Amino acid sequence: MFFQVLDIIKGTTVDGPGFRTAIYFAGCLHKCPGCHNPQSWDFHAGTEMSLEDLMGIIKEEDFDVTLTGGDPLYNPESIANLAKAIKQTGHTVWLYTGFTIEEIIASPSLSLPLPYIDTIVDGPFILSLRDPDLPFRGSSNQRIITNPSSLL
Ligand code: SF4
Repeated sequence: MFFQVLDIIKGTTVDGPGFRTAIYFAGCLHKCPGCHNPQSWDFHAGTEMSLEDLMGIIKEEDFDVTLTGGDPLYNPESIANLAKAIKQTGHTVWLYTGFTIEEIIASPSLSLPLPYIDTIVDGPFILSLRDPDLPFRGSSNQRIITNPSSLL
């Protein structure tokens, strides 16, 4: 099982509460106008890493973890395995995705990671709804959904 990783930032405070390790996965097809990071759309960008590689880096710090991109949900089975492994360390997992929670819960594939995700920030970035004052999200259509597996 391999992941295409653009970047890993340790100690960020903008991708969820507290100090977190944020992992940026390559690949996104949502193509939101005004996307903060269009270079993340390429599924082949970044570096190929294994589950063991990622867990080794995550365990170097005592931080909670955020999975973002790109959009991690283009690789839902692998992300489910990674999120499960992170949960076993006792840390919380936030996940950012351009899919809406309605699309996710309607899809057996997209919803695979949900049991291991504490919080989802959902939906595409919509430039006309951009609000820099919103904590942890870019536009007001995006929702911060805790315990998303309760919706399954
Ligand atoms: S979902 Fe995120 S990474 Fe993908 S195009 Fe939209 S803003 Fe960019």
